Amino acid sequence: MAKVAVKLVSWDEIADWARDLSSKILESGWRPDVVMAIARGGYVPARLVCDNLGVMDLVSVQVVHWPSTAQAIERAFIKHEAKVDSLAGKRVLVIDDIVDTGDSISLAKEYAEKAGAGEVRSAALQWISTVAKFKPDYYSINVTDWKWFVYPWNVTEDVTNFMKRIIMEEGASKNRWGFTELVSKMREWYGDEIMKVPLSYISKALINLEQMGLIERSSNGAEYVVKGK
Ligand code: AMP
Repeated sequence: MAKVAVKLVSWDEIADWARDLSSKILESGWRPDVVMAIARGGYVPARLVCDNLGVMDLVSVQVVHWPSTAQAIERAFIKHEAKVDSLAGKRVLVIDDIVDTGDSISLAKEYAEKAGAGEVRSAALQWISTVAKFKPDYYSINVTDWKWFVYPWNVTEDVTNFMKRIIMEEGASKNRWGFTELVSKMREWYGDEIMKVPLSYISKALINLEQMGLIERSSNGAEYVVKGK
């Protein structure tokens, strides 16, 4: 059994879900004047919804709640405010990729309301209905089994964080890793699904970990040595 359930999401799924989400917004008869993307996950969904609905005004606010893959901090906070002249009286749609606890989207909604928006609605491609404290007005997929979704714009970052976690948590007993050993440990922790990630992403993640100073190549280049061990 994997330690963390993971699902890789394709670009085709993203396009389908965004189209479905946009149809639901259109069918409701409500049309936003402004779309507010929640950075970073909401960027691509928000842009696709703008395209589908013909909305020209797209702004963004950055909320941080899960600074490292599949590891949340206690309280979501606004890292960067929206740069916007005025939301006064406007219909604003805040968009994210997924509503998990719901803290990020409810904070962004509150932010838009405080900024003077006339009416604020919320939307996400996915809503984890079994854990979320907040239900978006619009969503495409109702997720009932919690998983970490590896979105196509996030693969390198997620794989880097997955490997970092393995190296840190297994560090007490192991400080040298071969490439295939690391890959099979990833499979053990994150399940067969993670094996769908092309090997080039795994190699890039290892370069990232070297650049972060966490690992270095052994002198013969065959292994990765955990630094400081
Ligand atoms: P939350 O504040 O818990 O609703 O988390 C929302 C943000 O964290 C989203 O914008 C996602 O980018 C990220 N996130 C949270 N949970 C997941 C998950 N299960 N899979 C992928 N991304 C997630």
